[in-house]
Amino acid sequence: MTMCVFCEIINGNIPSTKVYEDDMMLAFKDLNPVAPVHFLCVPKKHIESANDVDELNSVYVKHIFEKIPEIAKSQGISSYRIINNCGSDAGQTVMHLHFHVIGGVELGEKLI
Ligand code: AMP
Ligand code: ZN
Repeated sequence: MTMCVFCEIINGNIPSTKVYEDDMMLAFKDLNPVAPVHFLCVPKKHIESANDVDELNSVYVKHIFEKIPEIAKSQGISSYRIINNCGSDAGQTVMHLHFHVIGGVELGEKLI
């Protein structure tokens, strides 16, 4: 099984500030937040990137997106941006699929 920093967080070998957890996903605060609210949602399965989502594992993505509204609400936000960086040219530094949820500040309309 591939081990990576997010797998280690899921397994409890690296500490994190958890904001939500169930049998399919973990959400925890980003170590380097770019907004007052910035957490990461990761599947409890090592999927490298959005390029590796398929019909067998997309249930994890479905589940994460079903849960994001309630997790965001628990963090005090109902307006937020969801970001996925896919591949190193797009800024993906941890090769375990994850969705950034950022908010708590006026983000504006521009993506970059
Ligand atoms: P990305 O650049 O899209 O791959 O995002 C990776 C994110 O993971 C970055 O925003 C990092 O700040 C964050 N990160 C890396 N290691 C940890 C960690 N141990 N705990 C929390 N967040 C982390
Ligand atoms: Zn992993």
